[in-house]
Amino acid sequence: MSQTILETAPLECPECAARLAITPTLAGEVLDCRGCGAELEVVSLTPLLVQLAPHAEEDWGE
Ligand SMILES: [Zn+2]
Repeated sequence: MSQTILETAPLECPECAARLAITPTLAGEVLDCRGCGAELEVVSLTPLLVQLAPHAEEDWGE
């Protein structure tokens, strides 16, 4: 009896289709695409779904 659980679902940037080696853990988390630099907001974890985050003018200074 084995159960397949995908802990690292493939995640692609909707902007440039780059594969993101990131596993988001929270809905609402914002990821940076390493391919094009787009900010991607995690809108859902199950299923894993991201969308381009609204462009923010603020610099979070991280
Ligand atoms: Zn990208």
